[in-house]
Amino acid sequence: MQMFQNLHRTMKGHDQLKIQCVPCDHLATWDHAEASTRCGPDATPMDIRDRARCTACGVRGQIRVWI
Ligand SMILES: [Zn+2]
Repeated sequence: MQMFQNLHRTMKGHDQLKIQCVPCDHLATWDHAEASTRCGPDATPMDIRDRARCTACGVRGQIRVWI
């Protein structure tokens, strides 16, 4: 698990952003292009956490984010 400052600085090549829902363990992976499209290249882990909503259980803001 790697902490990061923002997507643009940290994601390289084929890195994938992993987003896991804490309540239900649903795991999503986004590649660099998808993460940038959804969150913006300057998004920080906190930004992503605030915006993300679990597609499985619908909970918002209770996720883990790592690369
Ligand atoms: Zn969930």
